[in-house]
Amino acid sequence: MRVAIVGYEGRMGHALRQVAESRGHQWLGVDPRAAGGVVSIEDLEGPIDVVIDFSSADGTEKAARWCKEHGVPLVTGTTSLHEGAIRAVETASSEVPVVKAANFSPGINLLLALVRTAARALGGYDIEVMEVHHSRKKDSPSGTALELARAAAGARGWNDGVIHTGQPTGERPQQRIGVQALRGGDVKGEHTVFLIGETERIELTHRAYDRRVFAEGAVQAAEWVHGRSAGLYSMADVLGMNGA
Ligand code: NAD
Repeated sequence: MRVAIVGYEGRMGHALRQVAESRGHQWLGVDPRAAGGVVSIEDLEGPIDVVIDFSSADGTEKAARWCKEHGVPLVTGTTSLHEGAIRAVETASSEVPVVKAANFSPGINLLLALVRTAARALGGYDIEVMEVHHSRKKDSPSGTALELARAAAGARGWNDGVIHTGQPTGERPQQRIGVQALRGGDVKGEHTVFLIGETERIELTHRAYDRRVFAEGAVQAAEWVHGRSAGLYSMADVLGMNGA
């Protein structure tokens, strides 16, 4: 396939280039910091089979608009999207297939299913989520931490059950899940979901130790989405884990 990588000069961009090449795909890069690619998606030339976007909210918004206009599938992993980007992705998905995930690793997608099961099975236990990432990460808490907390809250039928606990919060209110973020070094991404009872505690942990895990998932999603009908798909769809 001929794949356009939006954000190709970034940390994920580098991993995506390597994985795309290793799986026999040709890639073109889009990044305002472009050294060997183009600075804007409008400058892309020739046919593109899939766009993979790991950039910024503005990058995602532009990529989604471009994909809709040109009838090209989109795989997007950018987190912390603003309203404009969320709307552009949703609008694009009415005309082209889009895979959107806060985390493309198979392990996290299994963890989401385990967390839903645990949250239902241990209904009386408090739930908290903690994540650790490298110090240059722009958003906090991570999109994955929020998704894990929302999965647990959803499994218990709690609306607005997730709170960010960067500030002192006092007593934890009922039916609320706190999310904590730590930053340091080059940690690729670690997430723990705590289920805390009066007399025991369970910790469900995922650790990514190479960005390749996300890049491999995203390229797998690009191969899967190529030729599908329009719609908004998740990584669980790609992995065949929906309903887990
Ligand atoms: P990074 O800062 O290293 O790289 C981002 C790149 O995007 C930079 O080179 C930047 O110049 C470029 N960029 C910014 N605006 C752009 C635009 N308008 N058009 C094109 N390129 C643009 O960041 P990173 O660590 O590679 O992460 C990128 C995004 O991916 C973040 O939102 C991060 O949270 C997310 N991420 C998602 C997953 C996942 O599995 N879904 C995994 C890791 C990171």
